[in-house]
Amino acid sequence: VEFVKLAATYSKVNLGQGFPDFPAPDFLTEAFTRALGGGNHMLHQYTRAFGHPPLVKVLAQFFEKLLGRDLDPMTNVMVTVGAYHALFCCFQALVDEGDEVIIIEPFFDCYESMVKMAGGTPVFVPLRPNPPKDGKLMTSADWQLDPAELASKFSERTKAIVLNSPNNPLGKVFSRGELGLIAELCVKHDVLCISDEVYEWLVYDGKRHIRIASLQGMWERTVIIGSAGKTFSATGWKVGWVVGPDRLLQHLRTVHQNSVYHCATIAQEAVAQGFQRELMLYGKPESYFVQLPKELQQKRDWLVQSLDGVGMKPIIPEGTYFLVADISQFKSDVPDVPNSDEPYDYRFAKWMVKNKGLAAIPLSAFYSKAHKNNYTNFIRFCFAKEEATLKAANDILQKWKQEKTSS
Ligand code: PMP
Repeated sequence: VEFVKLAATYSKVNLGQGFPDFPAPDFLTEAFTRALGGGNHMLHQYTRAFGHPPLVKVLAQFFEKLLGRDLDPMTNVMVTVGAYHALFCCFQALVDEGDEVIIIEPFFDCYESMVKMAGGTPVFVPLRPNPPKDGKLMTSADWQLDPAELASKFSERTKAIVLNSPNNPLGKVFSRGELGLIAELCVKHDVLCISDEVYEWLVYDGKRHIRIASLQGMWERTVIIGSAGKTFSATGWKVGWVVGPDRLLQHLRTVHQNSVYHCATIAQEAVAQGFQRELMLYGKPESYFVQLPKELQQKRDWLVQSLDGVGMKPIIPEGTYFLVADISQFKSDVPDVPNSDEPYDYRFAKWMVKNKGLAAIPLSAFYSKAHKNNYTNFIRFCFAKEEATLKAANDILQKWKQEKTSS
């Protein structure tokens, strides 16, 4: 919240908060316009509480394909107000007083507070960086769980683990081996998996996103969370969903019914049409789910080059539209604030937006209080931006480098 406000006040180029500054695809906005002005006036009224029927039906069809199992659109799919509301429903429905929930660090910041709001206790386990020895740039795959450390976090109080692959902020795409390890522990300890897969289509370099629910013993204990905002580059629409077994979703429906009850009908209708199109074009070059990652990979590579060129070492992400960069070589640029316990990455991000007009988010914001201080040398950029925006960021960085070398 603090950095969104700073970006609004000072930034010339905002690579902070995670949303595209390019338009949503025409087929999606046209579907919205058709729904709004077309002949069906009932699209201006409430629809089915747990999901507009055309949307839950097409989501069920789509996920049947992805998961290789039959799904009932009425009981295995639920539409939410963005993935954020899906997360809220999960934590409220599945976590009770005294339950422990394992969260892998760094994590999307609301997990911790939502677990606490439900009366649960977050238990953190970090992805640990192993820089490559050959001097190459680090990639998000170099951040890994320590299997023994992960296993040690499971106890009889563990109710769930939150998995976010591809991961915000690092862009890590968990491998089959890593998912297998998590799945094994979930089955062994009878633990649920809240699987936040909002960046499922944003995977690069030929990598594949693997759904943990498709692993042995996991369907019955996993809730998959998705977002039309991320999937179709329309974050303002706030359409999200959960897919999972009825035994879990029935409890999510209770929270849904007693929080928002309905989600906006027209946005659901348009997203349903977007999925119809994608179902028809599945795997084909014209599919948005094929085109978007291709375009984003190019944008990622531009930003990697810009940052590397000025010594702000990027960690190459395998997925998402975020990139974390190492700012440890910039300590002399940022004035020390005496008697302040504010971490370096917070001071750096504030200083950068105020003095250079470039907005980013400090990485330690994605860590628990106990571990924040171990990760203060990084900031996160979002590269889901127009070419002109990324070029403007590059200009700022280049000018900065020139000033540094001439001073
Ligand atoms: N999960 C993750 C990992 C996210 O990064 C975001 C959005 N930044 C969300 C959930 C929320 O998605 P939505 O905008 O659909 O509510």
